[in-house]
Amino acid sequence: MNVIDFRSDTVTWPTPEMREAMANAPVGDDVYGEDPTVNELEAESAALLGKEAGLFVVSGTMGNITAALTHCGRGDEMILGREAHMFRYEAGSSAALGGIHPHIVDVQPDGTLRLDDIRRAIRGDNEHFPRTRLVCLENTQGTIGGIPITAAYTEQVGALVREHGLKLHIDGARIFNAAAALRTPAKELVAAADSVSFCLSKGLCAPVGSVLVGSKDFIKAARRTRKSLGGGMRQAGILAAAGLVAIRTMTARLADDHANACALAEGLAALPHVQLDLSAVQSNMVFFDLTDDAPVSPETFADRLRQDYNILMRPYPGYTRRFRAVTHYWITREHIDTALGAMRELLA
Ligand SMILES: *Cc1c(COP(=O)(O)O)cnc(C)c1O
Repeated sequence: MNVIDFRSDTVTWPTPEMREAMANAPVGDDVYGEDPTVNELEAESAALLGKEAGLFVVSGTMGNITAALTHCGRGDEMILGREAHMFRYEAGSSAALGGIHPHIVDVQPDGTLRLDDIRRAIRGDNEHFPRTRLVCLENTQGTIGGIPITAAYTEQVGALVREHGLKLHIDGARIFNAAAALRTPAKELVAAADSVSFCLSKGLCAPVGSVLVGSKDFIKAARRTRKSLGGGMRQAGILAAAGLVAIRTMTARLADDHANACALAEGLAALPHVQLDLSAVQSNMVFFDLTDDAPVSPETFADRLRQDYNILMRPYPGYTRRFRAVTHYWITREHIDTALGAMRELLA
């Protein structure tokens, strides 16, 4: 990449090893269950997360919708965070496509939902109410800073969910970032979950795709849901081949991205007109604000970074002076130093 692109880890290109694996992948018709590369990706993903089976889907959004539609029927309710990707950024699909009623509770600064808030949100048996079926967590929690959620907390939610006969889904788009940040195997972070979806296409650099994992029975039902969403793919092994490289080689290097995020955050904290909470930088995201007295407006700051330095960084939607910078495979330590130098000049 000749630009330094901090907008998201979704911008990552596939690695040369991925392109090579894609070119050489054995394929078959995956709707018939005959694509060996897809089958391998699904089995390895499930094993990696300690579940029985996996399902390759087009996107993280499709993984979450497929899970919600498989766990819930029309008029059922799912409990999730107000800041959850599933609530904010998935086009209202669980309601639009599945008639699922979202019941939102506040996300705490550490990315969790309060157990008491979940407990209060669970409906009693009464004909006035929708039926509660599902609780959804997000790990790492993306909109509030890429915060990893611990296994101990997730176990508590799992116990609560089981006590009420509900299911637990984890939107683990960046679950391997959480695993790296907490130095805990991903399977321990999701042990309490009935289903988990994770993205191959973010920090793991695959060009397309996510995997949904769960029990054999759940995945069998989810396969039908995926088909109904138009997500049954044919020679998808071309894409799954990159996914295999992603889970085999890219999960182990995410700590490098986190170290780069720390270096960026420490450099930013030392600049004038920047406000930033270093303790909130726990994975590959850095949130910071430009102060009111900064010599440039947030818009000019972003424009000048792009025009004068080939650096992409966007004001964060919903805030007036906030930026989110995301580190990933295509951002090196030298890029961090270059970016800090550029921002120092703009803020001088
Ligand atoms: C990116 C993301 C998704 C959706 O993934 P897409 O592949 O972009 O559809 C879901 N949840 C979280 C937390 C994400 O960050």
